[in-house]
Amino acid sequence: MFRNKQTIKTRFIHKAHAMWGKPVEELTKNEVYQTFAGVVREVISENWIKTNKAYLDRQEKQVYYFSIEFLLGKLLDCNLINADIKKVCAEAMQELGLDLEGILHEEPDAGLGNGGLGRLAACFIDSIASLGLPGHGCGIRYKNGLFTQKIVENNQVELPDGWLQNGFVWEFRKADKAVEVRFKGNAYMKDVDGKLECVHENYYKVSAVPYDVPIVGYKNNTVNTLRLWNAEVVLNSDFEEISYDAYKEKLRYKHMVQRITKILYPDDSSYEGKELRLVQEYFFVSAGIQSIVRHYKRSGADLNDFHKKIVIHINDTHPALAIPELMRILMDEEGMTWEKAWYITRRTVAYTNHTILPEALEKWSIDMFKSLLPRIYMIVEEINRRFTKEAWERYHSDDKMRELSILWDAQVHMARLAVVGSFSVNGVAQIHSDILKSHTMRDFHDYYPGKFNNKTNGITHRRWLIKANPKLAELINQSIGPEWEKDPGRLINLLRFKDDKGFKAEIDKIKRGRKEVLAKYIKNRYKVAVDTSSIFDVQIKRIHSYKRQIMNILNVMAVYNRMLEDPNTLTIPRTVIFAGKAAPSYHIAKLTIKLISKLSDMINNDKRVNDKLKVLFLENYSVSLGELLFPATDISEQISTASKEASGTGNMKFMMNGAITLGTLDGANVEIRNAVGDDHCIIFGLKAEEVLAYYENGQYSAWDIYNSNIQVKTVLEQLINGFFPNSGESFRALYDFLLYNNDEFFVLKDFDAYSKARRYSGEKYRDREAWLTSSIVNIAHSGIFSSDRTIKEYAEEIWDIKPVKIK
Ligand SMILES: *Cc1c(COP(=O)(O)O)cnc(C)c1O
Repeated sequence: MFRNKQTIKTRFIHKAHAMWGKPVEELTKNEVYQTFAGVVREVISENWIKTNKAYLDRQEKQVYYFSIEFLLGKLLDCNLINADIKKVCAEAMQELGLDLEGILHEEPDAGLGNGGLGRLAACFIDSIASLGLPGHGCGIRYKNGLFTQKIVENNQVELPDGWLQNGFVWEFRKADKAVEVRFKGNAYMKDVDGKLECVHENYYKVSAVPYDVPIVGYKNNTVNTLRLWNAEVVLNSDFEEISYDAYKEKLRYKHMVQRITKILYPDDSSYEGKELRLVQEYFFVSAGIQSIVRHYKRSGADLNDFHKKIVIHINDTHPALAIPELMRILMDEEGMTWEKAWYITRRTVAYTNHTILPEALEKWSIDMFKSLLPRIYMIVEEINRRFTKEAWERYHSDDKMRELSILWDAQVHMARLAVVGSFSVNGVAQIHSDILKSHTMRDFHDYYPGKFNNKTNGITHRRWLIKANPKLAELINQSIGPEWEKDPGRLINLLRFKDDKGFKAEIDKIKRGRKEVLAKYIKNRYKVAVDTSSIFDVQIKRIHSYKRQIMNILNVMAVYNRMLEDPNTLTIPRTVIFAGKAAPSYHIAKLTIKLISKLSDMINNDKRVNDKLKVLFLENYSVSLGELLFPATDISEQISTASKEASGTGNMKFMMNGAITLGTLDGANVEIRNAVGDDHCIIFGLKAEEVLAYYENGQYSAWDIYNSNIQVKTVLEQLINGFFPNSGESFRALYDFLLYNNDEFFVLKDFDAYSKARRYSGEKYRDREAWLTSSIVNIAHSGIFSSDRTIKEYAEEIWDIKPVKIK
């Protein structure tokens, strides 16, 4: 009913009056944004109410996706696209003298995540809603999202991300749905009339208040919910006394509570055993499960059937406390026996593993865990007692116990808890799932054959193609019709055009257009002119040793060295672009940024080479910056040490926008290669088995390569010999990391193969016709990397849930 132009205009004007007491002409840019988004929010709410009612009436099984991160980015444009009101809104705004594109730009990114894991959760809830599946997200409402990155004098500086400063238009505070979460205190069992009951006393209480965000499905009337929890003080009459001590105590308590949801931990793929992080994990898991159980009981359903109606999916181990928390609620609050509660719990929870990096596996010191969560610890101990008893009876082996026991070495091993307490464990790309079974979790795979499976990651083509690259989406519609939007597998029909001259020219034009948009952004912000006919060679992702940005930049140094000797070294100009944040405490990653930034200053200002080579480090990689970069890229750098990148999803976004992958056989690169074939991607370097064999047998020496490859030796020496003016000993640690740490990630071992692959990519690019064919082949095969495909597999093979039609 709101979906016509006149109504939208009228509502906009009324809302402007109601919200700001001003006529439209006097609104600031941000007020225009908030007013317009407010109107859209009303349109969406109608279907939200309908969807919730349908779920209650139909009583179908539902999934809850628990994730400590949801990296949403901006929501307005996607909401307009999914609700199918973008065109009518653009017209309505235009008639009011307002420009929709400008309005969209005003929205801050919701950056409640570090990188791939959080962005995956965001793509998944978009796909769940778009497939009409009953499913919801559960996470934390961080007051500050991932830090804003600035480069100041070549160094990363972290600024707080105050994304909530003007409010978050899409959230609905539900104070009446608040629950209480308990920490610390003493827990013990007590005999009450011959029955053991748990007593938990002297705990402190935190109020968890949900903020619900509507998740709009694509043209299907479904609106699901992302529930983000905020920590708030419990108003307690005890504090009403006005004694100084009581006042101090009250303030202390208040600060402690406000800290819980204040910041997102900025570590990606690494783990720190900080108590506040464990508090965050239990806080949102306890709140989420309490609210699910409460809602379930209100619907009148039988708790004994809980696992038939509810699936709780945990995104990595951060929400693994869902297992003991569900046990606690079923036993302590609902009076179930251990056996019954365990039967239900391990049929309710499913777990996704995201990494095999040992430094990323969560382990909590038992002392800290026990003092913070005494009742939960008792339950974990009992889960482990029963599990290890069974395992001991099977193996009688201490070696096995060391690999299997949830409690070991005075630590709680969260991945083991997640495997034991769930009915499904999946990896996120075929090669990753295989390594989990054959290496990382081999003993668990032996113990629970059949529990392990693969679900290759995906990305939502609505954000990463329809929103990010509307001209490409339109060209696809004109060529193969619009059915691919609801069934992205149909992109394969584009293969018909892979040798079509006219179509190739259109693809070329769209890519060129997006390179120009990016060039303009770079010119405005960094005062560097880049040549849009150069190859845009892009590596954007978190900065991490295993992702090997260092290999990329060392190769640029080698190319620079060669160009100074022979100006014709580069047959085709290249613009090498980096972006990505480093965890604030990750020294090597920060040095990598510094090296890129220093080299960038040097090369971009060197007249001998800068008409052919440019290097840029773009600040503050985020979803929105990604939307600018993926469509403008020719070469997608996916060069992690084989076996280390579980899947990667950036690789899929590039491919979908017609970039060619230059990468190792790691993560989903393997599946991209299998889909497009060796002619349409560039693969190099060690294979996963070779890397794993080196780790097992040793037999690799970084010094051998240093001594035998003069280019490698030269660039490494340049890190420490004054080549970078005023850098002193800055880069000594990188040099040492590669040589004295024996190059843990095989940067030097793969260097030569990588250099050759880069050179080959230039030759390939020069054959325009062949390049454009490759570009089209990549787009055509990208449908299998839509998260709609991934979520269908989760729904059918793990969750057993079906779509619910909303009229
Ligand atoms: C997709 C995405 C990532 C993940 O990139 P990878 O290359 O898979 O590591 C990280 N951050 C943002 C903002 C993204 O959009």
